[in-house]
Amino acid sequence: MVKKSEARLKDKLTTATEILTWELADMWGHVSARTADGERFFVQHLRPPINPAALNNDVLEFDLEGKRVSGKRNAPEEMFFHLCPYWAKPNIGAVIHCHPPMAISLVAAGKKIIPIHQHSAIFGRAVPVSPWLYGSLKEDGEKATKVLGDNCAMMIKGHGAIVVGETIEEACVNMVRLERTARMILAAATAGRPAAIPAAAAEKFHSIIGKDSTEISPDQRRAVSQIAEWHYYEHLIKQGHRWSRL
Ligand SMILES: [Zn+2]
Repeated sequence: MVKKSEARLKDKLTTATEILTWELADMWGHVSARTADGERFFVQHLRPPINPAALNNDVLEFDLEGKRVSGKRNAPEEMFFHLCPYWAKPNIGAVIHCHPPMAISLVAAGKKIIPIHQHSAIFGRAVPVSPWLYGSLKEDGEKATKVLGDNCAMMIKGHGAIVVGETIEEACVNMVRLERTARMILAAATAGRPAAIPAAAAEKFHSIIGKDSTEISPDQRRAVSQIAEWHYYEHLIKQGHRWSRL
C-alpha cells in the first residue's frame, strides 16, 4: 500500500515537472514532496539528465539529513532550498524551486508581485523578496526559509523563486500562479498602473474558498481551488499538449 502511494507521489512529481516546464518555459529548477511518514522526500529536476543512461523520470529519494536513499541521477545542487523549509515546518509537504522568468523580471525592476487578481490573493499583499542567495549553502537555505515565513512563495533577487504547499499539487499551482501574476502585472503595466485588489476583497475571497471555509462545501472548494487547476493541467499533459507562455 505504501509502495503504491509512493509510486503515485513520484508520478505526481513527474506531472509537476512537465506542467512547470511548459508554463515557465524554463529548464532550471526542481520539485520535491515529502513522503507520508514525513521522514523522507522525493525530488525531481525539471530538466532531463545529461547522462544518457539515466531515466528522464528518475525520481531521487532523500532522508531529512539530505542523504540519498534511492535514485541514480545527480542530486540538485541547491538542496538546502528543499531541506530548510522541510526542517522549519512539518506541515510543508512540497517545495518547488524554479526560475520563473516574468517574476524574476519584475523583481529585477524593483517592482512588487502584488495580488492583482483573486487567485493571486494567496500571496498576501506582496511576495517577499530576498537578496541573491544560492541553495547549495545551508545559511542561504535558512535565509530563504526565514524570508518565506508563513507565506507560500518568496522571490530571490536575480535568481528565482521558492514556493511551498501542503501537497505537490498545491505547490505546483502556487508556482504557476506566481508566474501568471507577474505576467499579468507586466501586461497591466503597459496600459497603466497595476493595482492590488483591496485587502478586504482578498480576505473575503479567502474566507469563501480557503481551507477553513464554512461558506461552501468541501466539494465546491475543491472545484475552485488549486486542485481544480492541477486537474486542468494534468489533463493537458495526459492529452499530450505542449505549449509555451513566452
Ligand atoms: Zn536556482
